[in-house]
Amino acid sequence: MKDIRVKTRRRLRFAQVIAILIVFFLGYRLVKIQLVEAEVYKRDALLQWTKAYDITSDRGLIYDRKGRKLAINTVAYTIWASPSDMEDPLLAAYMLRPILEIDEEELVKKMTSDSNVVRLKQWITSEDAEKIREFNIKGISIVDDSKRLYPFGNYAAYMLGFTDVDNNGVYGLERVYDRYLAGTPGIWVKATDAANRQLPYDGEKIYEPKPGLSLIISMDEIIQGFAEDAAQRALEANRAKSVSIIVMDPETGEIMAMANKPDYDPNNPREPLDPELAEQWKELDSVELQNQWFQMWRNYAINDLYEPGSTFKIVTAAAALEEQSATLNSHYFCNGFIRDIKGVVIRCSSWYDPHGDQDFETAFSNSCNPAFVGMARELGRDKLYEYIKAFGFGQVTGIDLPGEQKGLIPASVNSIKEVNLATLSYGHNIAVTPIQMITAMAALGNEGKLMTPMLAKSLVDETGKVVQQFKPQMKRQVVSKDTAQKILHMLEKTVLEGTGKKAYVPGYRVGGKTGTAQKSINGVYVDKKFIGSFGGIAPVDNPRIAVLVIVDEPSDIYYGGTVAGPFAAQVIEQTLNYLEVPKIYSENELQAIQEIVEAPDVIGMSVSEAGRTITEMGLKYTTEYEDFNLETTITDQYPSPGTAITKGSIIDLYLEKGEHNPALSEEIP
Ligand SMILES: [Zn+2]
Repeated sequence: MKDIRVKTRRRLRFAQVIAILIVFFLGYRLVKIQLVEAEVYKRDALLQWTKAYDITSDRGLIYDRKGRKLAINTVAYTIWASPSDMEDPLLAAYMLRPILEIDEEELVKKMTSDSNVVRLKQWITSEDAEKIREFNIKGISIVDDSKRLYPFGNYAAYMLGFTDVDNNGVYGLERVYDRYLAGTPGIWVKATDAANRQLPYDGEKIYEPKPGLSLIISMDEIIQGFAEDAAQRALEANRAKSVSIIVMDPETGEIMAMANKPDYDPNNPREPLDPELAEQWKELDSVELQNQWFQMWRNYAINDLYEPGSTFKIVTAAAALEEQSATLNSHYFCNGFIRDIKGVVIRCSSWYDPHGDQDFETAFSNSCNPAFVGMARELGRDKLYEYIKAFGFGQVTGIDLPGEQKGLIPASVNSIKEVNLATLSYGHNIAVTPIQMITAMAALGNEGKLMTPMLAKSLVDETGKVVQQFKPQMKRQVVSKDTAQKILHMLEKTVLEGTGKKAYVPGYRVGGKTGTAQKSINGVYVDKKFIGSFGGIAPVDNPRIAVLVIVDEPSDIYYGGTVAGPFAAQVIEQTLNYLEVPKIYSENELQAIQEIVEAPDVIGMSVSEAGRTITEMGLKYTTEYEDFNLETTITDQYPSPGTAITKGSIIDLYLEKGEHNPALSEEIP
């Protein structure tokens, strides 16, 4: 009995607990629905008979460092249809077709769809909007809208990027800073009945949009203009595939200009600027077309890799001096070749006329490959690898632009074999981006301090108040100030006497290095496809700018000094002039400026004969070909005979072509 009673009591207790739990649960639900979730239910109910419309916020503008407007908004008009209000879609489509330039059929389809509102066309002109307004078609509305406009057209297209039809940033700075530029859209909530007619209900509410912040960048529109101009000239003069020019402030890492050619106009990013190309694109299907667009929007300066060639020798030289595995008194002997690596013969670019014994500086300005191989061997692969990484290669620089590549360096020290150590020393078998190369060079113009390249300077609100400031960031001290200065001095010597002569600017102390590399596609060297480049710093005694010019696949002449040097010189001279850096002429320069001579006629002469004639007149000459001997005949010259030139000027000699001689390719089977 006792057991049963206990059992019953237990059951009762259990039922009680359950009942209490149920009461609590119901109470909780009630509280939750009435108090906690009331807003949610109310909103859902509201949404059944209200409509919310986005009110677009004003996108922030983009300014250059001097406050010039690079990206602005203009008023444009968007035409909307609300199908349920339309009385005669066929007639409306017939009337709108010529103005909107859209198929009648397509218009009718949109006007009879079951959406509440349909966008017929975005961004029409005010004249067109006015015409449509005069038609006064029921169910058609014209809404003020804003359209992104880039007043400088294709200038700095790769930096700025562009926005999509909804004003979202999709490329360039527009994308990276989209969340600041975009602002917060407002909402207009209004009550409507089932047919979308507005109800006389006071539930209508407007949440004001918040405008986006404006972006001020380090680019200077004037310097950008110099770079754009030089890039276009280099593209045409070399009949090249593409040209990239970057100008950087070595002290801060700020980008002052970045130009790529060919380019596109961000105001109309899906249409190539070349009318012939535009015609060809009409034949493409949508997949092919998209590929072409992505190709066109690639920012070569940060998205593409290239083999730097001799410009990379600054890394080897700086590392050797810093580690004291070499000094300026070190000597290197060049007999034209390096033959002690099994299966490989490396040759100097001057193999036909070996450099012989040279000290460190001379080897540098001669750009002698065997000397650099010697330098790298003394330094050792661990140290060379350490400096390649310290200068920022093999990792992204962190520039505030999308899609940056990190380049290709050996995966580890152990993967650097004897032959790799040799080729790395002169910049082969390594792939870098232009932005990595100029950042590394700029470190030498900044007392050895490597900076993070940057574009954004600050974000300001609509009243002009600075909301956020972006400070220059130093990554690391790569080499000492002393080493950096030694390299700068040698870079100047290279421009005055060595392979960088074409970038010489009288009055400014320019330092620089030329690079020429055979192009590799998917790791295989492509015959007769080259990339010529020039990297420079000026003035070397107080560096204000670092400049890099990359010429991809120039036709005919492919030596960096010729294809890129003169254009670097142009940008350097114009930029330093603009920055009001005074020109200081050396004695020799002053003398040369005062003495004008006529360029002699050396066409048809042999190299030795022409060389004598030219030097006797106080002029200099270059022959960019390496496969010639002193008896080779000159077929053309620049400047042409009779042209007035100053003493000390350089005459380019074009030679009778011999067998193609890939003097810079290191492997001879
Ligand atoms: Zn040599």
